[in-house]
Amino acid sequence: MMKPEAAPLGTLAFYSDFDDFETWKRALQAQLPDLKIVHASEIDNPQEIAYALVWKPPARFFDRMENLRLIVNLGAGVDSLVNRDDLPAGIPITRITDPQMARMMAGYVLFSVLRHARDIPFFEQAQRLGKWAYRHPRSPDEITVSVLGLGQLGAKAAYELQRQGFKVLGWSRSPAQIEGVECHSGIEALDSVIGQADILVLMLPHTPQTVNLLNRERLGKMKPGAALVNVARGSLVDQTALIDLLKIGHIGAATLDVFEREPLPAGHPLWSMPNVLITPHLASVAIPSSSATQIAANIRCISAGMPPDNVIDPSRGY
Ligand code: NDP
Repeated sequence: MMKPEAAPLGTLAFYSDFDDFETWKRALQAQLPDLKIVHASEIDNPQEIAYALVWKPPARFFDRMENLRLIVNLGAGVDSLVNRDDLPAGIPITRITDPQMARMMAGYVLFSVLRHARDIPFFEQAQRLGKWAYRHPRSPDEITVSVLGLGQLGAKAAYELQRQGFKVLGWSRSPAQIEGVECHSGIEALDSVIGQADILVLMLPHTPQTVNLLNRERLGKMKPGAALVNVARGSLVDQTALIDLLKIGHIGAATLDVFEREPLPAGHPLWSMPNVLITPHLASVAIPSSSATQIAANIRCISAGMPPDNVIDPSRGY
């Protein structure tokens, strides 16, 4: 689609507890010098706000933004923006679709899968005990990795995993095709995809259909000793069941970047489990230098009365 060149009208409001306002402002201002960009804490008159660039804005954030025309989610997962009661209907919500973000996520997934595939947690524990504990390496083609969710991030990760020589199964809602990946779709295929995995990677969005998808019964269908990598959302997994299964070793190890409650509360049992690696929700982030162009293009579209790209479907939840 040809991008219009009309000067954007109005003001953009920025909200994120995790991303640096000045960096984003500089990146966007370089593309749209005429756009007024304010931090959420500086909004005098909500009615002046035409665009919102946000990550997890608090409840009632959009109240009185009657002239809002576009919401840009500062990331891929839009679960904090759908089903809100402070949003006027029909405002397009866009997500960031950035190859750099997908590469960063694929890097995290690759690291986690290789760590489990090469038994690194076992060696880390042995080292703490001062033990020379030989465990013969498995060849990647003996290891099945199942990736649940084959979207913009999931598909890239699955592709990179098969390039490492793993047997990779993928699962999504509608049928997908990814080079070197055995793709499955639909709920009827899920248990088999879970049951074959030596390493199960969660890359699904949080939606009403995916909440608690990995319930106790499904977690129990994992191969004894298999590893779990969750870079999607904590809500997908029954956390109590996960802890129980990790304790008895049915799930051998887990790499968890996301949790039901974030930050993971102090003293939570997961913190002290020797077979769990915890990272604080940063498997991938939106990168200003590479994402600003598409955000600016969408703002130009809206100001010219044209539909933006990368719009999510609120009824689907992603
Ligand atoms: P996309 O929205 O591009 O794709 C979602 C994928 O999940 C699609 O393959 C979709 O299937 C599939 N899916 C959705 N619902 C179902 C369902 N009910 N049953 C089966 N498959 C389903 O997502 P991305 O790949 O961009 O990102 C995935 C998630 O990763 C984000 O939603 C977010 O929660 C998380 N994330 C985490 C980050 C972190 O730092 N930890 C950073 C960024 C994202 P179909 O193709 O058929 O539509």
